[in-house]
Amino acid sequence: MRPTSYLEISASAYRQNIAFIRSRIGPSPVISAVVKGNAYGHGIPQMVQVAEEAGIRHFSTFSSDEAFLVNRHSQFTSEIMIMGMLFLEELPQLITQEISFYVFDFERLEAAIETAKSLQKQAQIHIEVETGFHRTGFELEGLDRLVEILIREKKHLQLKGLCTHFAGAESAINHPRVRLQFERYETFKKAFAQHEITFERYHTACSAATLLFPEFHLDLVRIGIAGYGFWPTQETFHLLKPSLHESQYNPFRRVISWKSQIMSLKPVETGEYVGYGQSYQTLEKMLLAIVPVGYSHGYRRILSNQGEVLISGVICPVVGTVNMNAVAVDVSHLDKVQTGQEVVLIGTQGDKEITVASFAETTRQVNYEMLTCLPSEISRRIVD
Ligand SMILES: *Cc1c(COP(=O)(O)O)cnc(C)c1O
Repeated sequence: MRPTSYLEISASAYRQNIAFIRSRIGPSPVISAVVKGNAYGHGIPQMVQVAEEAGIRHFSTFSSDEAFLVNRHSQFTSEIMIMGMLFLEELPQLITQEISFYVFDFERLEAAIETAKSLQKQAQIHIEVETGFHRTGFELEGLDRLVEILIREKKHLQLKGLCTHFAGAESAINHPRVRLQFERYETFKKAFAQHEITFERYHTACSAATLLFPEFHLDLVRIGIAGYGFWPTQETFHLLKPSLHESQYNPFRRVISWKSQIMSLKPVETGEYVGYGQSYQTLEKMLLAIVPVGYSHGYRRILSNQGEVLISGVICPVVGTVNMNAVAVDVSHLDKVQTGQEVVLIGTQGDKEITVASFAETTRQVNYEMLTCLPSEISRRIVD
């Protein structure tokens, strides 16, 4: 089936974003591309290709199914790290394929050791510690038991990492909490070191922490949203701004564009209602373009009478309600318009742009949410 809209993934934009991150962190830390949530809606197969072409050799996923997908598409045997969900019965497959994974409780740890023993192959694990996020992670109280197991079973384990995750590095209001988290992380690190347990890589930082806290970079940074060309929050930019040269005020480029085309044109007389219900009544004669994208494609219903698209480089407002598969936009003010013409839902046309931020703002979503709501069925094309 030919999809009614498509996403363009810009390889050059991604390269630029990674180059900026690299300029902030220096040559040593590994950049892990976070590709959870179908690579923030960009598509895992496409982003693995684009990221590897940009020199990335490390990927982070939330779940095992995403990790297997990355593994299938990786051309360079990149390292893969699962930060969240896996099913214990998948451990043999994960260990065999040398996919590393977070371990944050004794159940997963013991299952990993058992599987490693039976396969006679080391499990590659990252020990996640609780520093104040309160989602997953070993507590300091359990440290003795953890240390005892890690020492006893060390020949079955490859200690790839010691890690934690910050509870909102993208907002200054959370920074005292985040700094306290880092202190607790260091406490864990020292405690392990006292027992002569060391890890291949120490890692804590997401995009915001990477941009704002150089002391948190350590050996690896986990870059999600910034790689796709977005500030984690506007605040992140304002916090970083004093350390930027003016030419760096806009260092990120949006990787994604979302495009469709005009399905049909519809003239409407004055005083008529458009679409379902009575949310929009014409005040004059209008020409509407019907675009075959609706809420089933991730174009949110809340954009009814609020969204904007670009046609012929001109901003055209959405009129009436967003339907399941279609939306009407006002093209009365355009000189020339015809079916099949390109419609930009997100991206640039001429010198105009519909940004993800404006899109997300109108839908009252954060960038992250808007992007991951893009269905995986929409086709994704890589462009440079
Ligand atoms: C999502 C996630 C990241 C990446 O976060 P960004 O803000 O998108 O950079 C890093 N680490 C963990 C554990 C995550 O879950």
